[in-house]
Amino acid sequence: MNSARTRALGGEPATQMHYARKGLVTEQMRFIGNNEKVDPDLIRAEVARGRLVIPANIHHEALDPMGIGLTLSCKINANIGNSAVSSEVDGELRKLDTAVKLGADTVMDLSTGGAIDEIRKAIISRSRVPVGTVPIYQVVSELDSIEAMTADDLIDMVEHQAKQGVDYMTLHAGVLLRHLPLARKRITGIVSRGGSLLAAWMLARRRENPLYVHWDKILDICRRHDVTISAGDGLRPGCLADASDAAQFAELETLGELTMRAWEKDVQVMIEGPGHVPMDQIAMNVEMQQRICHEAPFYVLGPLVTDIAPGYDHITSAIGAALAGQAGASLLCYVTPKEHLGLPNEQDVRQGVIAYKIAAHAADVARHRPGARDRDDELSRARFDFDWERQFQLSLDPETARAMHDETLPAEYFKSAEFCSMCGPKFCSMQTKYRLDGVEEVLAEVEGSGATERLTTLGNPAAVPAAPLASRPAPRH
Ligand code: SF4
Repeated sequence: MNSARTRALGGEPATQMHYARKGLVTEQMRFIGNNEKVDPDLIRAEVARGRLVIPANIHHEALDPMGIGLTLSCKINANIGNSAVSSEVDGELRKLDTAVKLGADTVMDLSTGGAIDEIRKAIISRSRVPVGTVPIYQVVSELDSIEAMTADDLIDMVEHQAKQGVDYMTLHAGVLLRHLPLARKRITGIVSRGGSLLAAWMLARRRENPLYVHWDKILDICRRHDVTISAGDGLRPGCLADASDAAQFAELETLGELTMRAWEKDVQVMIEGPGHVPMDQIAMNVEMQQRICHEAPFYVLGPLVTDIAPGYDHITSAIGAALAGQAGASLLCYVTPKEHLGLPNEQDVRQGVIAYKIAAHAADVARHRPGARDRDDELSRARFDFDWERQFQLSLDPETARAMHDETLPAEYFKSAEFCSMCGPKFCSMQTKYRLDGVEEVLAEVEGSGATERLTTLGNPAAVPAAPLASRPAPRH
């Protein structure tokens, strides 16, 4: 679909933000408005304001555009890509297909192993969702050491990937020399790959972050190809103890400054966020990002809400992602069960995407987005009607839902049975015999017998006398 714009503009260098600010509703905005049932002119206004991004590189022809911002539904990203020890083109394309089939809204190709260009070309030509990258990974993989990198290597790689059709790029331009001492007292130091590479380069070369120094050159490239900048959080916390510290927020201040400079050139920006954050600090982190970065969309990496569950970090992080989404994050980067342990395989991708579809949807419901709960209500009705087929269809992962039902009751007969193997036919509480038919008559009869006051009290919490203060639990501080 994106090719329509390329033809319409005749290759003219302009971003969605440029058109939005000129008052033009683009094909991409209309497409998104139609998909999400949102007025395209509202999408235009939000893009012009910087509160919504449409990552849509003009060279990514297979793309079906999508938007990231608070006006739209909460989105999820799936990371794919190889490492030096695992995977190749076919394996990465299978991961892409699995992620998109299960509902990933964007994918990031984080390849750091061999055949990086080949893998990226294959992913971009196949992907109808936006593709993101971290350009410094490819720079470093092609050098003997990070110290050998020059600023031009980095800038040239941004341009190379922009020409390939990458829709958004993580650029850790906010990690500055003066921030580095702030990360020294942490338990886990700098855990962002991009952040640690740039910090090592800055210390070895005794120079400031080249992405920061050459930000205007980077912006000119992004403007020409309409690459959305995903301003990386190179100093994100890598454990609960390091969350919300001075290093993290110092970098965020710099990202706020860089956002304004990008907007001056009509370059779209979203801001990446932590990482590992205790539940009680998540809403505060979202509020800080929104205030400091002028309401640019927030793209959170999890966050994990506890550090003690390696092997289950799709769960620890989906809890944090749901809370962040409810508080105002617009894009949730998935974490798979392999986090901290190894490169995700196709099954891990599946687990991660489903966990994050749940988190994003729960956030949409909690934010009262129009129609967000419709599917929940429809599935609940199907469940109450024992319409098992419809229940499977409406599930986020129909294959798994069906397989689990089939595990104990595979026969077709049981696909309309008024029970499953959980409680069995005798104790299934949803059977018609347990429904509340005739309750009004019973109530009228009981009221007539003089038990009215007790029933009224039971159904009305306001009528329950308050417990004496001394018997209440003491407040915790
Ligand atoms: S048997 Fe139990 S779990 Fe299964 S449908 Fe009935 S109430 Fe639900």
